[in-house]
Amino acid sequence: TASSAKLQDIDPSKLSITRTTTPKELVPANELVFGKTFTDHMLSIEWTASDGWLPARITPYQNLSLDPASCVFHYAFECFEGMKAYKDSNGNVRLFRPTKNMERMNKSSARIALPTFDQAAMIQLISTFANMEQRFIPSTRGYSLYLRPTMIGTQRTLGVGPPGSALLYVIASPVGPYYPTGFKAISLEATDYAVRAWPGGVGDKKLGANYAPCILPQIQAATRGFHQNLWLFGEEEYVTEVGTMNMFVAIKNKKTGQKELLTAPLDGTILEGVTRDSVLSLAREKLAPEGWNIVERKYTMKELSDAAKEGRLLEAFGAGTAAIVSPIRNISWKGDLVDCGLRPEEEAGEIALRMKDWIEARQYGDEKHEWSYVV
Ligand code: PMP
Repeated sequence: TASSAKLQDIDPSKLSITRTTTPKELVPANELVFGKTFTDHMLSIEWTASDGWLPARITPYQNLSLDPASCVFHYAFECFEGMKAYKDSNGNVRLFRPTKNMERMNKSSARIALPTFDQAAMIQLISTFANMEQRFIPSTRGYSLYLRPTMIGTQRTLGVGPPGSALLYVIASPVGPYYPTGFKAISLEATDYAVRAWPGGVGDKKLGANYAPCILPQIQAATRGFHQNLWLFGEEEYVTEVGTMNMFVAIKNKKTGQKELLTAPLDGTILEGVTRDSVLSLAREKLAPEGWNIVERKYTMKELSDAAKEGRLLEAFGAGTAAIVSPIRNISWKGDLVDCGLRPEEEAGEIALRMKDWIEARQYGDEKHEWSYVV
């Protein structure tokens, strides 16, 4: 609108930096637990409906002070991102496809009436922040700095309406390899009694409100011995996502025998995973020339089960920032265990293994590629 056009956008030149006087001791790399330890500093930017984005600040990592009536606590005005900074063999810090995360964050924030921002400006600020925290990033392959951009509505009101003020902040947590001793294939429970996302809903946005309701089904699956939920949708039992990862399956086409790498389409019920996009892109680049067909379409649990029975289900894996790829051994469905094609002694299929290598080569800058952004 004309009035919002006058509001200030994020301006990296106005950044102020206050360094900590009490630097933290580094946690030994082999003791890192995902999301438990945080770096020395945080990046914060406040927004008000009257002024737009105020000057960004990097300060010592600290508690927030919020009025208990702040709208985030009542109506879930919260969205977030998950991305990583990697250290390459020359000691440079690199972000992986950060524009994808910033685009997605703007889509998420706009959907819950929180402000959007200039993506390039935000990437510049995150780069400065990641650079400041680089002593926390081990140079070893598999390690990285997990970055958590977060936006909350801060207006002090119980009125249900668009927040008049917001806070965008970024915290960082050093993380180790998801599978420190090599891949470990997981078992899934196909979940039909709880639904993660639905047409016209917000399952394609990274809202905190999408995540809390998935914990109880996750606990229930765990009590039955399964690592993750495989989220199904509708009477047709379409396969959508696995836990907090996008789902990929490699099958042989029933009619033609052609190998297909298959994933659900972005129809509004699927998170637009950066890893999903990277897997599809690499598959089109490297697997298609080997004769693979790369397919985004709806597919059902019945289709997977039939393919498994007929020996046409070659492998299945989840794809996401945390694990990159997560191989799947089997899926519990209607009292059956659908075997996903791994031999008993195997923990990962060939496509999952190759994808991990291809993606890591670009994340760690071993392969020069536009996906890798040196900060
Ligand atoms: N689906 C869901 C529901 C997720 O939370 C995530 C993690 N962001 C993904 C898929 C994978 O997305 P990405 O590859 O961007 O990490």
